[in-house]
Amino acid sequence: MDIGIENGKIVKIAPRIKGRARDVIDAMGRLTSPAFIEPHIHLDKVLTSERVRASESGTLQEAIEILWDAKRKYSVQDVKRRARQIIELEALNGATRLRTHVDVDTIGGLTACRALLELKKNYADIMDVQVIAFPQEGILLDEGAEELMRKAMEMGADVVGGMPHAEMTRELSMKHVDILFDIAREYNADIDAHVDETDDPSSRCMEYMAAKTIENGYQGRVTADHVCALASYDDCHAEKVIRLLKLANITVETNPETNLVVQGRLDTYPKRRGLTRVKELVQSGVNVTYGQDCVSDAFYPFGKADLLQTGFVLSLAAQMTAPSEIEAVFDMITINAAKAMRIIPEYGIQVGKRADLVIIDAANVSDALRLQPDRLWVIKEGRVIAENRSSRKLLRHS
Ligand SMILES: [Zn+2]
Repeated sequence: MDIGIENGKIVKIAPRIKGRARDVIDAMGRLTSPAFIEPHIHLDKVLTSERVRASESGTLQEAIEILWDAKRKYSVQDVKRRARQIIELEALNGATRLRTHVDVDTIGGLTACRALLELKKNYADIMDVQVIAFPQEGILLDEGAEELMRKAMEMGADVVGGMPHAEMTRELSMKHVDILFDIAREYNADIDAHVDETDDPSSRCMEYMAAKTIENGYQGRVTADHVCALASYDDCHAEKVIRLLKLANITVETNPETNLVVQGRLDTYPKRRGLTRVKELVQSGVNVTYGQDCVSDAFYPFGKADLLQTGFVLSLAAQMTAPSEIEAVFDMITINAAKAMRIIPEYGIQVGKRADLVIIDAANVSDALRLQPDRLWVIKEGRVIAENRSSRKLLRHS
């Protein structure tokens, strides 16, 4: 098919479009997809691993504490210098939209938030950035965080983040969720919160959040990240929670790379994988996305902001290896992420939609995940924003 683009929009799709264009790309039949969406990354924390001590336990809690000192020393310049490198990598790897969490707490204050809001403006030509005000240290546990959350929203943060399982008791976790909905309604903002990011089967924030979503008429406006505890519930309770997620139209966002590394750390054997019940959620019709989460920080030493690499890891970790399951994984960073961000009216390869495309040097989705090949062209609003050409050569001597 030819794809005709004018004024940043797709205007025609046909086997052969006649006429002249200012620029013509011959994609040579390569896989062309709507540009990727990175739904979950922490740009304030990226590339900090060299300045912090190594984790002894490898647990989530220790990583959070390791970062306290680094957070105290954040400057706007420092956060921008690190974050911009990852925004550029995400674009080179095929994404034109990205959601980043930013810690909002009494340790680092609003410095990182200010930095990411500035980058959001500076990088609008290659990346639509949404900033999530994220109370990493809890809200009731961190006195003053609630006020900072409201300040972050005033400054221009787009989405309300959360971390209810961090609170001391189940009652306080519920209170945390109530506050999230209060702030979200005050600013008419969506919610994208870390929920039950733990192996603890008694962590039960998800079902309460689903109930509050329905009570507040927030169906379709809430994303729950990680949701690891769902994998540790007994099957009967898990079935109930999955049913509630569907009923409340909540998106579940999974972070396979970090979850594999951070969860299950206190297990001996059998050792849990830490991911939520990805396959069962997909089969139940829950909207599922995945993201990079971390790049070279106290939580995770790797990550190259390449959603095809993360998708490959997810396929392994969630055992989604049948052809239809591989397609489902690819949907998570395209159409499913677009649903979560509520941009479906402008997203996709159809006439009238925004021309955000990635042309991948692969014949099909399975090869895209298997080989993670060059993103030959990345297009945002009709303009080429990135080109990649790797060169390899084999020298035979027989
Ligand atoms: Zn996260």
